Order: sequence, then C-alpha cells, then structure tokens
Amino acid sequence: MRMTPTESAYAPAGSLHGKVALITGSTSGIGLGIAHAFAQAGTRLVLNGLGPADEMERLRAGIEEQYGAQVLYSAADMSSPSSIEQMIGMTRETFGRIDILVNNAGIQHVAPLESFPVEKWDLILAINLSSAFHTTRLALKSMRENGWGRIINVASAHGLVASPFKSAYVAAKHAIVGLTKVTALEAAEDGVTCNAICPGYVYTPLVEAQIEGQAAAHNLPRERVVREVLLAQQPNKRFATVEQMGAIAVFLAGEGAASITGAALPADGGWTAH
Ligand code: NAD
Repeated sequence: MRMTPTESAYAPAGSLHGKVALITGSTSGIGLGIAHAFAQAGTRLVLNGLGPADEMERLRAGIEEQYGAQVLYSAADMSSPSSIEQMIGMTRETFGRIDILVNNAGIQHVAPLESFPVEKWDLILAINLSSAFHTTRLALKSMRENGWGRIINVASAHGLVASPFKSAYVAAKHAIVGLTKVTALEAAEDGVTCNAICPGYVYTPLVEAQIEGQAAAHNLPRERVVREVLLAQQPNKRFATVEQMGAIAVFLAGEGAASITGAALPADGGWTAH
C-alpha cells in the first residue's frame, strides 16, 4: 500500500471518464444539473424524467452535443417497479454496465396530516423512496461485478429534520437516509459507496411551485415568502444552485470520496446546524 501522495491521487474527476451514470428525474432541476456535471466529467449518461417526447429529445441531444457524451433517455415512470426494471435493462443492454446511480426523482405535496390525500402519500413514497430501492437492487449486480460503483441518493434537509405539512415527503426522505446506510453497509467490500446529499432549498421548478403556493396561502409577496417562509430555517438565506448539487455529486463519485460511505451530507446553508 502506497504511503505517500501521488500526483494522480489528486486528479479530481478524470477517473470518471467513460463511466456510465444513470440519474433518475434528470430532465429538470437538480437532476439536470447533476447530469450536466457528469457529462462534463466525461461520463456516458442515462437521462430520465417525464415530459413531452420532443422536449425530452431536445434535452438529450443538447447534452450529447454540448459535451460529446453518449446520452440515452428513458421515459420510465419512477412510481412503477416494472418501468424501472425496463430502464435498468435498457441501460445494461446499451452500455453493458452501470457505474454511477443517482436516485434523484422526487415530488412534493404540502397538506396537514388529517387532510393529506392518501393517493399523494402513496405516490410520494413510491417516487421519492421505493424507486431508489428498485434501482439500487437492480443496479448493484453490475457494480459488484466491476468492483466499483457509486450510489448517490438525493435526500433533503428533510431527511434529517422535519417541517409541518410535509408528512409524506419528510417520511420518505428520512427513510432514504436509512436506505443509504443499509446499502453502504451491504456493498462496502465491493468498492461500492452509497451516500445521500441533503440539500436545503435549491432553486428549481419544484421550489418555484412552492413559492407560488405559499404566497397564495399566506397572502404575502414572493420576496417575503422566500425569506420568511421557505428560507426561515436556512441561516444563509440563499437558495443553493443546481450547479452546486452537480459538483457535490461529481465529488462523491470521484476517487477522493472512496472512503465516504453511508453518509448523509447536508448542503443546506446551515439549516441542520441549528
Ligand atoms: P424538479 O421538479 O425540478 O425535477 C424533478 C424531476 O423528477 C423531473 O425530471 C421530473 O420529470 C422527474 N419526475 C417526477 N416524477 C417522476 C416520475 N414519476 N418518474 C420519473 N421521473 C419523475 O425537482 P427538483 O427540485 O430538482 O428536485 C429533485 C430532487 O431533489 C427531489 O428528490 C427533491 O425532493 C430533492 N430536493 C429538492 C430540493 C429543492 O430545494 N429543489 C431540496 C431538497 C431536496
């Protein structure tokens, strides 16, 4: 075993060149930011998300052209285990491997417990939690075979602390932090790491919808909603960016992060330091 640092040990993302990264929910927001970051680091990509076919193709071809990366698109619905199975199958057929799995797809619904729609609870648990169980159980084989893999779960500060009216979301995000730890333990000896990123508020369409919803609910202008409602718990009073989330994911996938596993990494402007 080498005891002194080598120049190559500091190469940040070069090691990712040619690897295959599958990112769920990567046609918008954080997932799309992570997709750009991996394409820039030289990986091949599987994009996934819901949307009109022509828009999805424009997105896929755009990333392919911008970075010269090979990009596949899957329309798999993350609430459907059979659809997830098809996506993983298509990835293995096309690329022969999966090296990096980012479980990012997620939705939100805000309502008090007593009136929380039961079908929303089921859907949030399916998309925000169970989809990660299915992708992980199906992708691990390929990673173990190669003796290398990275699983990155996009959880949330709500995987560490709670807020009212987000019962399903907070339950799913706490649970995915638990799944992250179990995956890390089971895969540790095979060169596979599993970590969760726990963002505070990141400016994306999901957050924009919340600003609009809260502004209507509280009858407040959007600047006050942003500062006093959404970022009330976030000490830096600033939204994070999708580019920052991409940089964290690339770091976790790199060799420098090889011994980080089972961690839930806050990226929340100090929210969970309270
Ligand atoms: P977004 O709405 O911008 O993007 C969500 C993505 O998921 C889209 O690509 C959408 O097509 C896809 N998606 C939704 N339902 C799907 C389904 N059934 N099957 C397949 N794809 C589906 O959201 P975002 O803000 O980028 O959030 C991404 C992840 O980050 C979520 O898990 C969210 O909980 C988490 N997160 C977001 C924030 C934030 O402030 N934006 C903070 C913490 C955690």
